[in-house]
Amino acid sequence: MEEFKGMSKKAKILLCIILAISLAAISLFYKGNKSIATDEYLFEYAVEDDAPILNQMEVITGLIEVGKIKLYEFFTSEEWITFATERERERLLSSNSLWDEDVIPQEWDSDRGPNWTDRILLTFDDCITDAERFIEVLDHATYLDIGLMIFPHGNCLTIYANNGLDFEQLVRERGHWIGNHSINHPNFRLLSREEIKTQVLGGAQSNIVRPPYGSFNDTVLEVLEETGQKLFIWNVDTNDWRRGMNRQRVVNNAVQNAQLGDSVLMHLQWWGFTAQALSEIKEGLSARGLELCRPAPSVLRPTPVEVPLNIC
Ligand SMILES: [Zn+2]
Repeated sequence: MEEFKGMSKKAKILLCIILAISLAAISLFYKGNKSIATDEYLFEYAVEDDAPILNQMEVITGLIEVGKIKLYEFFTSEEWITFATERERERLLSSNSLWDEDVIPQEWDSDRGPNWTDRILLTFDDCITDAERFIEVLDHATYLDIGLMIFPHGNCLTIYANNGLDFEQLVRERGHWIGNHSINHPNFRLLSREEIKTQVLGGAQSNIVRPPYGSFNDTVLEVLEETGQKLFIWNVDTNDWRRGMNRQRVVNNAVQNAQLGDSVLMHLQWWGFTAQALSEIKEGLSARGLELCRPAPSVLRPTPVEVPLNIC
């Protein structure tokens, strides 16, 4: 301070100007160059374009926590997460697979549906009119880390809508997927081309279609080609709708008959769609060394209309 006091007025002004320019330069430098940080490696990794987005988010969150750099100079964490979420969404959808695991692209298999893995996909058709139970089971599936594919018919969506509920949204926001199962459950083989088209474009919005009764013919396939939708039947039928069935029998049918990569047919209104049945199916398959498909990652919730080729 003594030295500063002793300086001439000119020198003081000059010093102030130099100081101001330095400060401006430093702030510009920090804003423009995202690789400057006290922990260079971590920060370079965080902004590296090819790094997995979720890891970037983790790194950034970590850096904010330990206070190594002031990230708000570049993004607020909320801005970053929005950006990362959009990028992650894009990447996940454009890759045709939700997961980074090695899955071999194959021809579409209408019995396996959107699953290229060894995991088993549980599917539930039609409708459950008890909304409370519906939500409870969906939540339980998510809790068990099971991703379901639900095929409601259009009439089911209407029943929920009339009670102020969005059936598709209830499913999608929990990480499960929606397929089309027609508007009012007709046998597609008895319909004209135009009638089939109305059915697959009405009802639940999806690029995946399961015709009622699994009933289709060449006309159905041609219509789906035209509408850009894919046919999905099933590998394992639990026969859950048959007389004399109960929860245990349906669970056994699913557990004993499913093989690697299979899809299992059940119905929302029958024995398999309960919290207990899902727990038992998971346990039973696990005892056989088999795993179930997982719910969509949280960045993809609600799940989009366009179902990727591998959701498992
Ligand atoms: Zn059905």
